[in-house]
Amino acid sequence: MEAFRATMLAMPTPTPIPSADTTAAAMRPIDRLGRPLHDLRISVTDRCNFRCTYCMPKEIFGRDYQFLPRDLVLRYEEIERLARVFVGLGVEKLRITGGEPLVRRDLPDLIGMLAAIRRPDGGELDLTLTTNGSALRALARPLHDAGLQRVTVSLDSLDDAVFGAMNGIDFPVAKVLDGIEAAREAGLSPIKINMVVRRGINEASIVPMAAWARDKGLILRFIEYMDVGHSNGWRLDEVVPADELIELIAGQWPIEPAEAAYRGEVAGRWRYLDGAGEFGIISSVTQPFCRDCTRARISAEGRFYTCLFGAEGHDLRAILRSAATDDDLTAAIADLWHRRADRYSELRSAATSNLPRIEMFAMGG
Ligand code: SAM
Repeated sequence: MEAFRATMLAMPTPTPIPSADTTAAAMRPIDRLGRPLHDLRISVTDRCNFRCTYCMPKEIFGRDYQFLPRDLVLRYEEIERLARVFVGLGVEKLRITGGEPLVRRDLPDLIGMLAAIRRPDGGELDLTLTTNGSALRALARPLHDAGLQRVTVSLDSLDDAVFGAMNGIDFPVAKVLDGIEAAREAGLSPIKINMVVRRGINEASIVPMAAWARDKGLILRFIEYMDVGHSNGWRLDEVVPADELIELIAGQWPIEPAEAAYRGEVAGRWRYLDGAGEFGIISSVTQPFCRDCTRARISAEGRFYTCLFGAEGHDLRAILRSAATDDDLTAAIADLWHRRADRYSELRSAATSNLPRIEMFAMGG
């Protein structure tokens, strides 16, 4: 703990900016480690219909668990206003998440509002969404028609017994596959698949998932099991390191590394040499990518987080529900980004394991 504190204290102090600064520099704020603000993840709900063992284990998130009351959750108009302000500060990519975003009523209405936002140069945003896929059969087309471009679906195994145990409610694989098919029929493209890999739990699903994704033209992304929150009882020995995953895939098909699409892209990309597309690895544990992290998050209740492993969010809802103007909001967010020095994954050690952290579903995964 002492080492961690010392490292944080050694960080340079931020250059203060005036609170109503709307100069060009403040419009594209750079944090204390030289990172711009490029991606924004917005959680639209803290609720989920799954109880994934690594995220919302049912022993803790049971019937009596108190989710946020509706009046504390940001309204769509508030989310749109925030998104517009963030886009003015340089955000080009918006991802809607949760909880499970598709459980929020009338989600296509929000997508329509966000799809209408333009970057300062007039360009369209990269607008996407992460879902467990359970409601995609009903919602893929309305979401697409409202302006959603692409989608990421989480799926940890093609084996019903393994997937059912991991999602905590025995949700069948076939329904997620049908949701993915609905997304394809609706024209959402590309479709990415997130697979959290846990040692001894779904390791045997790695190669079958890769073979399936290649066959279907989907981009599979392996995610190292992360120590987000404190309810999943995370242990380092349950992480299957990126190097091991790469070796396993390379043993099946020839692959080569592919370049990142942009600075801050979190997935390390690999290309199949036989032309069957690509896969990615999000290796936040064994190969942290903090130095290029250009990502911010807003929780369902409007708290602004500058790190997935952060403990303290900043209350933007209070500003939204005050008399503050868009310029005030812009200045407040720019100021928070200027002060950002987070690099939790690079500092991860025994000393950081007990630090307070917010659960991923609460912050927005
Ligand atoms: N409900 C949606 C879904 O299932 O995709 C969106 C929210 S979920 C928190 C976002 C992503 O975080 C999912 O792909 C999930 O598998 C991943 N995730 C959750 N907890 C994780 C953990 N401890 N380590 C790694 N990934 C995790």
